Amino acid sequence: MKRHSINITAQCAFDGPKGRCQRKTTTTHPYCAQHTQTVLGVRVAPSKIKGAGLGLYAVRPFKKGEHVVEYRGEKLTQKEYDAKYADDAMGSYGISLSARYVLDAGKTSSGVARYVCDYHGSHSKPNTEYVNIDNRIWVVAIRDIKAGEEFYSDYGEDMHKAMGLK
Ligand SMILES: [Zn+2]
Repeated sequence: MKRHSINITAQCAFDGPKGRCQRKTTTTHPYCAQHTQTVLGVRVAPSKIKGAGLGLYAVRPFKKGEHVVEYRGEKLTQKEYDAKYADDAMGSYGISLSARYVLDAGKTSSGVARYVCDYHGSHSKPNTEYVNIDNRIWVVAIRDIKAGEEFYSDYGEDMHKAMGLK
């Protein structure tokens, strides 16, 4: 499956008592890999699913119902999104916000929620779901999650078809 991804390098957003973190990130925006762990409680590493690329893991326990990370991206209309990706829109980092709008997380700077993999091929059930809260999409834990577990979600039927899954 084709993934449309644009790598962006930025300075870590963490600003502590000793000043702004000087480390840079290309994958874990807005924080460097270390601050992603200490601030958000998650880390990006190769998925346990073969061929899935990077995945997102818990570095601390999460409770059922807890908001794990926000799914961020560029807000496009369905029309704009379809035009941007033409034939293989389903292979992109888009998530429907409503019938009209799509969040496009195609830039690495969109944040780490984009790394949550679909559960197919994981030998596990999804442990998160996407929840729309006032037009912001959150990855929410649907059961208690232990430190070290990979997050999986259910991308939904349309995406499964596009990915060639049943
Ligand atoms: Zn940092």
